[in-house]
Amino acid sequence: ILIERLTNMKLSVAGTGYVGLVAGVCFAEVGHSVTCVDIDENKIDLMNSGISPIYEEGLEELMKKNLAAGRLHFTTDYKSAYRDADAIFIGVGTPEQPDGSANLTYIATVARQIAETLEKDCLIVVKSTVPVGTNDKVERFIKDFLVNNVKVEVASNPEFLAQGSAVHDTFHAARIIIGTECEHAKKMLEQIYEPFHLPIVSVNRRSAEMIKYASNDFLALKISYMNDLANLCELVGADIEDVAQGMSFDARIGAKFLNAGVGYGGSCFPKDTKALSYLATQHGYHLRTIEAAVDINKEQKLKLFEKASKRLITFNGLKVAVLGLTFKPGTDDLREAPSLENIPKLLALGAQVFAYDPVGTQNCKKLLPDKVTYTSSPEEALTGANVCFIFTEWEQIKALSPSVYKTLMRTPLVYDGRNIYPLQAMNDAGVEYYSIGRVLK
Ligand code: NAD
Repeated sequence: ILIERLTNMKLSVAGTGYVGLVAGVCFAEVGHSVTCVDIDENKIDLMNSGISPIYEEGLEELMKKNLAAGRLHFTTDYKSAYRDADAIFIGVGTPEQPDGSANLTYIATVARQIAETLEKDCLIVVKSTVPVGTNDKVERFIKDFLVNNVKVEVASNPEFLAQGSAVHDTFHAARIIIGTECEHAKKMLEQIYEPFHLPIVSVNRRSAEMIKYASNDFLALKISYMNDLANLCELVGADIEDVAQGMSFDARIGAKFLNAGVGYGGSCFPKDTKALSYLATQHGYHLRTIEAAVDINKEQKLKLFEKASKRLITFNGLKVAVLGLTFKPGTDDLREAPSLENIPKLLALGAQVFAYDPVGTQNCKKLLPDKVTYTSSPEEALTGANVCFIFTEWEQIKALSPSVYKTLMRTPLVYDGRNIYPLQAMNDAGVEYYSIGRVLK
């Protein structure tokens, strides 16, 4: 790489999902000239008219601002975007395959498109979460398919943003991981990130790839550990929230990710735990900690459904209110959400499902049978219901007082997968209330 000093770089980003779009918009916001590429024409048209195809707080405003300033462009024409870029960030999906391994076909397609297009030296940055060793393969693949006589370096720069706070997380990231053995590549990435004033950790490419999995899987493990303990708490009369509070004061443990519930979902923890287990297996090793986290999470997603099945004689003909569909608040993403496991089971048993979510309804319609009725308020879903399941702790749901359940439901029977309400308050309001790992004190 011959580029020595460039203040405002010409960057391209492949993929405009949660990672690519947020990165592209934030790079533009700090002054770089950015072209975002996607194969989805609808998405590109939406973004060119200033509409964000995903819901993230503050994203659309920044998108509009930088579009108007001429620093941000959206196109499906990858050739025009990659041809003369200083650096290309790859942020396409790496979804789970049936065997648990990561699907790298989207990465490979972009790599090939880059190889066949580059007309000048370029730094390729893999932001997608990829198994250890993938950056090496991407570099060899691009070099094999290069059409012009240009120099290419591939660096790993995994992303740590959390959906629901993606823009904030980008500007306040705990660290930027730069994985490369090439000094020029390292310098360029440091320059690209310089305006963000964030701590930078430089490691080799394989360590960078591993840091991403190690971090995500540790958080998944922490959640599964708390869920495992919550199940034991129920059996022995301890209260998981008190236990978590007591643990949280220990700085070695920390206060975050100690909430018990119906399990983690989303596009990252489920697939990244399985991908790391798969990688281990490929090398003849059993990563038992992570395998346990995966198993616990699978069972946890149906914990409330099982509790309700024991309590009720049948779901057939019952009106079931489902509050919250997305895998967590602040996002419209439903990938691996507990609601998607539970609702089909309820429908199969003859329940009439009335679901409320403030932003996830459109995406849910694509994933679940037409039989689900979507309501525009939680109250509407609750009216006349025999049972209620809470799967996401949206503010709109937390704002409902216990008396609302008592007043609106035909029978106030509530299964809360996010431990939103104090047991005493629900008890006082006359609601039969079940949650995860808690005891009435
Ligand atoms: P996503 O599925 O939301 O978006 C991927 C986008 O890439 C889609 O818009 C798709 O149309 C586009 N695409 C596919 N092929 C393309 C091509 N050849 N050229 C251009 N665009 C193409 O994915 P995401 O959630 O943003 O995740 C992307 C990667 O980042 C994954 O590896 C994921 O594990 C990782 N990651 C995700 C998060 C998160 O919170 N979602 C956080 C950190 C890391």
